[in-house]
Amino acid sequence: MEITFLGTGTSNGVPQIGCKCKVCTSEDKKNKRYRSSIAITNDFGRVIIDTTQEFRLQCIREDIRTLNAVLYTHHHADHILGLDDVRAFTEMTNKKLPIYGSRETLEVIKQAFSYLFKKPINKSPVALIEIHEIYNEPFNLINTDFTPIPVKHGRIECLAYKFNNVVYCTDCNKIPKESEKYFYDLDLLILDALRYSPHPTHFSLNQAIKTIEKYKPKKAIFTHMTHNFDYDEITNILPDGIMLAYDGLKINL
Ligand SMILES: [Zn+2]
Ligand SMILES: [Zn+2]
Ligand SMILES: [Zn+2]
Repeated sequence: MEITFLGTGTSNGVPQIGCKCKVCTSEDKKNKRYRSSIAITNDFGRVIIDTTQEFRLQCIREDIRTLNAVLYTHHHADHILGLDDVRAFTEMTNKKLPIYGSRETLEVIKQAFSYLFKKPINKSPVALIEIHEIYNEPFNLINTDFTPIPVKHGRIECLAYKFNNVVYCTDCNKIPKESEKYFYDLDLLILDALRYSPHPTHFSLNQAIKTIEKYKPKKAIFTHMTHNFDYDEITNILPDGIMLAYDGLKINL
């Protein structure tokens, strides 16, 4: 199994529009962050978590030509707005693409992309999607069990996903008691680490490090980052076993 980081930025992306800070003007590719998403690929296919505004560019950059399903973490714009571009895949297969999410997420998707759920009035193709509402139970895709795990993202709930002893947990500022059992003894924990200062809906860098110290995964990777973090600067201060993600990073499991 391979995990590819399609994007590792917060909702603004990095560089941020109009910003001339050191990171936004940096030449280092590791300081350029599309909105956060990962692709999980194995011999049985490929699943993508979230469709960002750069979904099309991410697929082109990574030469992604096939897609079996999309899982959604929550309904914020930086996680759903690329959905329309799955059309490129469903035009090739002429099959509905399954998308998975909580009831709340799917409700927002149905409003934002209402035309995908109406009978077409002309022959121009739209993305063919099939929605699957998920609860707390695991479900199987590409021969892999995926377990949705509710976590706190300010006032709303976000879903982390566990698969192959890995948890992908973006957009989170608290792991509720009842979800904690999924976070122990992991091979890899991919976690939200927004910026230096505290934020009401995301882990800050210190909070993310403390979370890793608590659950002690074998390895941890931080994602969903602002322009606060210069890749090399943060890498130099991170404890052993923790690294920053960067766009295009691939992890083989
Ligand atoms: Zn986000
Ligand atoms: Zn900046
Ligand atoms: Zn969010």
